[in-house]
Amino acid sequence: MNLGFAPPTSSQYNTRDLDYDRTLDKRLGTLAGCRRPRPVPEVCSPSRHVLSKVQNYHISEDNPMRTYESWGRFPKVRHRTVVPIRWRDELPPLDAFDAPVLPHGMGRSYGDVCLNEDGVLLDTLPLNRFIHFDPEQGLLRCEAGVTLDQVLELVVPYGWFLPVTPGTKYVTVAGAVANDVHGKNHHHGGTFGRYVTRFELVRSDGRRYICSPEENPDLFRATIGGLGLTGLITWVEFRLKPIPSALIEEELIRFENLDEFFEISAQSDVDFEYTVAWVDCLAQGEHLGRGIFMRGNHADVPNALYPNSKRTLGVPVDFPEFVLNPISMKVFNTLYYHRMREKRKRVLVHYEPFFYPLDAVKNWNRIYGRRGMLQFQCVVPFGDHQEVIRAIIDRIARSRRASFLAVLKEFGDVPSPGLMSFPRPGVTLTLDFPYEGVPTMHLFDDLHALVRDAGGAFYPAKDTHMTPEEFRASYPQWETFTRFVDPHFSSSFWRRVMAR
Ligand SMILES: Cc1cc2nc3c(=O)[nH]c(=O)nc-3n(C[C@H](O)[C@H](O)[C@H](O)COP(=O)(O)OP(=O)(O)OC[C@H]3O[C@@H](n4cnc5c(N)ncnc54)[C@H](O)[C@@H]3O)c2cc1C
Repeated sequence: MNLGFAPPTSSQYNTRDLDYDRTLDKRLGTLAGCRRPRPVPEVCSPSRHVLSKVQNYHISEDNPMRTYESWGRFPKVRHRTVVPIRWRDELPPLDAFDAPVLPHGMGRSYGDVCLNEDGVLLDTLPLNRFIHFDPEQGLLRCEAGVTLDQVLELVVPYGWFLPVTPGTKYVTVAGAVANDVHGKNHHHGGTFGRYVTRFELVRSDGRRYICSPEENPDLFRATIGGLGLTGLITWVEFRLKPIPSALIEEELIRFENLDEFFEISAQSDVDFEYTVAWVDCLAQGEHLGRGIFMRGNHADVPNALYPNSKRTLGVPVDFPEFVLNPISMKVFNTLYYHRMREKRKRVLVHYEPFFYPLDAVKNWNRIYGRRGMLQFQCVVPFGDHQEVIRAIIDRIARSRRASFLAVLKEFGDVPSPGLMSFPRPGVTLTLDFPYEGVPTMHLFDDLHALVRDAGGAFYPAKDTHMTPEEFRASYPQWETFTRFVDPHFSSSFWRRVMAR
């Protein structure tokens, strides 16, 4: 099959064994399709008494061009200052601010884990340089703010891929470490942190730690899934995964209800590296939990190692709130479910639509209007998981409040390296809800009670609703973790779940 793309030859671009050097930034940036650091706005003072210490740094107020929100756009908070981090060897004194600091990546977390109300945000996107790429071994070292999109642009032509990827490629490498993200291959590959070989962590006292499973292993474990609270990651080294092509052999299966989902999921675990299901969360009765199961493997197709990152659509404005109503959502879900006439179909697709269907629409979160949205993601441990998931979906269907984005997947038992990692054996359900005030909060109270009673856990990267008690029950190791939290780092999420 000739797709009209040839893999690069080593003379076209060879990034092998390039040790870090600022003069290489531009060259590597261009090769990888990444941009120069984005301009950050004008100076304002972080606080009078630290000004003398930090005056050499370009301190910005909330950038009117960049909003520093989370992806759900809820809660809405104001930051005292935003400090762009341009060079990893010229950091501002992190203990000099009179408010806690928090690193911020692409802001693709949904809730408040990447927000720091009235505190200082460290904007890490200017740290966007590749440092070293070994295309023979599939080992990549890059700065913290490099995005997974930029990684793919660089490595796919050499026959490498991300070992684990979330449902968007617009996240930074350090953001993927700090939430120890998971993807459709969790049952095979575990979390992103498993592939991290080393990173540098800078603490607020200015000390720099190289962290790996051998060097500073406790700090390594605490920082993977450490929610940005253990210090600033400046660079990350991680292992890539070899792929025969950029294509995926995908199989789609329509299932009528939850029982069928669990049957297909059990059958798919061994033969399919990637599995996930879309669920129609508004269907009720005998169709409760119906949906479309998607499973796939990397396809062995010659001459098809090309990244493809063209965005086709965008949402230019916030949608008015009436657009997403129970009727429009029901219509959408029904049409989406019936888009597949046949029970089962096999297709050969590029990895982009398979892994990142939503990335094709820029700013799709605006569909939820100005009030934003809440995401709910839980994991229910194996045992009576089928009944619990059924009860959760039933509660959602009766509320008529769910949106079209509802995803169900079984996690495997591959252990996560992070002390606070979210994935664990069980079934994970993820849903978006338009934020409608009190009714949304009541619904969340009910969903949380069902998960809590089943001994389940909630994902901080998607959370706005966890109580301190629920956090401690979800992460019983939290007390050990607090020993590694940097005294000058904090987040809106952390203050919420640590409140007594
Ligand atoms: C459409 C969509 C689909 C998604 N699908 C999945 C999925 O399938 N699986 C999954 O696990 N997640 C998923 N997510 C969530 C997303 O992958 C995570 O929230 C990810 O951590 C976001 O990375 P970011 O660069 O945007 O970081 P941010 O959201 O900006 O920050 C996330 C955390 O990383 C910390 N951080 C950022 N940079 C640094 C640094 N340099 N040093 C230390 N800490 C740092 C922040 O303090 C914060 O705690 C999805 C999100 C979206 C929008």
